[in-house]
Amino acid sequence: MVERTDILLDDEKKDLLGSTEFEDTSTVKVPESLIDQVIGQDEAVEVIRKAAHQRRHVMLIGSPGTGKSMLGRAMSELLPVEDLQDVLVYNNPEENNNPKIRVVPAGRGRQIVDAHKMEARKKTQTRNMFFMLIMMGLLVYAYYMGQLLFGIIAAALIFLTMRYLIPKDDSMVPKLLVDNSKQKKAPYVDATGAHAGSLLGDVRHDPFQSGGLETPSHERVESGAIHRAHKGVLFIDEVNTLRLESQQSLLTSLQEGEYPITGQSERSSGALVRTDPVPCDFVMIAAGNLDAMAGMHPALRSRIKGYGYEVYMRDTMDDTLENREKLVRFVAQEVNRDGKIPHFTRDAVAEIVREAKRRAGRKGHLTLLLRDLGGLIRVAGDVARSEGAALTEMRHVLEAKKMARSVEQQLADMYLERRKDYSMFKNSGAEIGRVNGLAVVGDSGIVLPIMAEVTPAQSKEEGKVIATGRLQEIAKEAVQNVSALIKKFLGEDITNKDVHIQFIGTYEGVEGDSASISIATAVISALESVPIKQNIAMTGSLSVRGDVLPVGGVTQKIEAAAQAGITTVLIPKSNEGDVLIDETFRDRIKIIPVTSISEVFEYSFSGQKPKLLEKLKKFAAEKKLGIVLP
Ligand code: ADP
Repeated sequence: MVERTDILLDDEKKDLLGSTEFEDTSTVKVPESLIDQVIGQDEAVEVIRKAAHQRRHVMLIGSPGTGKSMLGRAMSELLPVEDLQDVLVYNNPEENNNPKIRVVPAGRGRQIVDAHKMEARKKTQTRNMFFMLIMMGLLVYAYYMGQLLFGIIAAALIFLTMRYLIPKDDSMVPKLLVDNSKQKKAPYVDATGAHAGSLLGDVRHDPFQSGGLETPSHERVESGAIHRAHKGVLFIDEVNTLRLESQQSLLTSLQEGEYPITGQSERSSGALVRTDPVPCDFVMIAAGNLDAMAGMHPALRSRIKGYGYEVYMRDTMDDTLENREKLVRFVAQEVNRDGKIPHFTRDAVAEIVREAKRRAGRKGHLTLLLRDLGGLIRVAGDVARSEGAALTEMRHVLEAKKMARSVEQQLADMYLERRKDYSMFKNSGAEIGRVNGLAVVGDSGIVLPIMAEVTPAQSKEEGKVIATGRLQEIAKEAVQNVSALIKKFLGEDITNKDVHIQFIGTYEGVEGDSASISIATAVISALESVPIKQNIAMTGSLSVRGDVLPVGGVTQKIEAAAQAGITTVLIPKSNEGDVLIDETFRDRIKIIPVTSISEVFEYSFSGQKPKLLEKLKKFAAEKKLGIVLP
C-alpha cells in the first residue's frame, strides 16, 4: 500500500494550452454565426442544422446551462429571412366579435397601417371642415337674427356630437399584430414559463362595452408567442411546466400552422372575441431535463418524436488539446459578449481550463456546464475591471473562484458553521462507532458523521437494521455486506443483533451509497468496541467481497474534509484520477486511495485493531491475494 499525496499534481499545468498561440484572448478569433460558437455539443449542432433545413421540431434534453437556448437562437439564424411575414388584424363591420386577419410580406404591414391612418386622418379632417362651416354659418345667421345665445348652444351641440357620438374613422385602421419589418433574421421567441395568454394570444377586456366609448375589438387583440414565432423558432424550456391545456393548444397550433386568437380569461369581454385563424408556422425547440420529458403532454411529446429530433446535451467533453482550444475561444466569446470586462491573459485562461477539468468531476473530461463557467469568467473580469487592470489575470480568476460560490456551496458552508457550533464535528481523537463520512449536496461536498450502535435484538426471530429515511436502504445493504464478511471470518452471526445507524445532523438530499464503507467501519467499531480515528474521513462503496468501489464527487468531498480540519481522507483507488482539488487544500490533507475494506480498517482504527482485520489479513496472506471472498 502506497500512500500518495501527489495524485493531484496538475502535470500539464505548464502546457495546459499546448502550442495554442495567443498572448491574451483579444487576438482569438470568434466565429460570426452563433451555431459555430456552440462548444462541445457536436451532435446537437448537427441536428439543429438539419432540422433548420427541413423545418423539423427538436427536443433538447439535458442539464441547464449547456447551450439549449443558445442552439435555439442559432437555429433562428439558419432559417430563411425572405419567408418572413407581417400579420394584420382588421375590424369586421359585419361581425364585430370576429376580427379579420390578413397576412402580407414582411415590411408591408407597417406601410398598410400608415396608409390607413393617413386616410382616416384625411377623412376626419374633411368631416371636421364640413361641421365647422355649418357651425360658422349657424352663428352668423343667429347673430343677424339677434339670437346669438341660441346659436352658441346649437353650435356647441353640433361640436359635441361630432366629437363624441360619431364613430371615429380609426376603427377602420388595422392593427399590426406581428411586425417583422425590422427583422434581419428569422424570429426567435422564448416562451419559457409563458401563461396561456402570452403563449397563444389574448383579447384585452373592454370596460366600456357600448355607447360609443368602446375600443373596437380588433384593437384589443394581442398576438401570442406562437404567432410572433411564425416562420421562426419557438423555444420553450421546461415544457412540462406549461399547463396541460396550454400544451394541448400548442399541439393544435403545431398541427394546424395557424391558431385563432381569443380572450383567455373567461369572464372578460375579450372572451367573446375570436379572430380568424392567425398563422403560426414555427419550428419548436422544446427543452428540459429528463424529468421534464416525463411530465410533458404525451401527445405533444409524440408529435415531436414523430416529426422531429430528440438530442441529449452532453455535460462534459473529452479533455483533448483541441477541446481546450475551444475553451480558449469560449473565454474570448464570453468576454466579447459581455463587452465590459477585459480580455484574459494566457495564464488566466489556463486557470479557467483547469477549473473546467475540475468541474467535470471525471477523469480526462472538461465540463460543458458553460453557463456556470461563463459566470466565473464574468466575475473574474469584474474583479480585474474594478482594479482597473488592462487584462484579466490568473490572480483575478483565483479571486473570482473564491467569490463565485454556488448557493449549494454557501449552504454547505453554513451547514458546516452550524455543526461546528454544536460540536457535531470531530476532527481529532478517537471514538467508538463514529465515522466521518463524506457526501455531496448539489455540487459541493460535506462531512457527514455516521454513528452506529449494536444491541441485542429486540425481536426474538431476527435482528434489524434501524436507520431513518433514505439511509435505511443504503445502511441495510452495507450492513448485509459487512455481516457477510463477519460471518465468514469471525464465524459470528450478527443477524441476531439490532444495528442502529444514523447520520449526525441528518441532511436532506444526501446522495447515498458512497457512505457504505463508512457504515461498515462504524458497525465493526461498534461491534468490537474499537475506536476510530476522527481525523480521518472516508468515501467509497462496498461490494460483498469487501472491495471498495468508486463513487461520485470525490474532489468536492476531499475539499469539504479539508475545510472541516480533517487531515486524512480515504477514497476508492479507482477514483484517483478524478481528484483535482484546489491548490489551497493541497497541503492540508493527505489522500489515501484504497482498494479493500481491510485497508480502510488498517488506516481508520486507532491503536487496537478489530479482530476482523486480523482475520482478513491472515486470509489475504494465505491467499497471497487481495481479499477474495466466495
Ligand atoms: P440552457 O438553455 O441549456 O440552460 P443557455 O443556452 O441559456 O443554456 O446557456 C447560457 C450561456 O452559457 C450561453 O448564452 C453561452 O454564453 C454559454 N453557453 C452554454 N452552453 C454553451 C456551449 N455549448 N457553447 C458555448 N457557450 C455556451
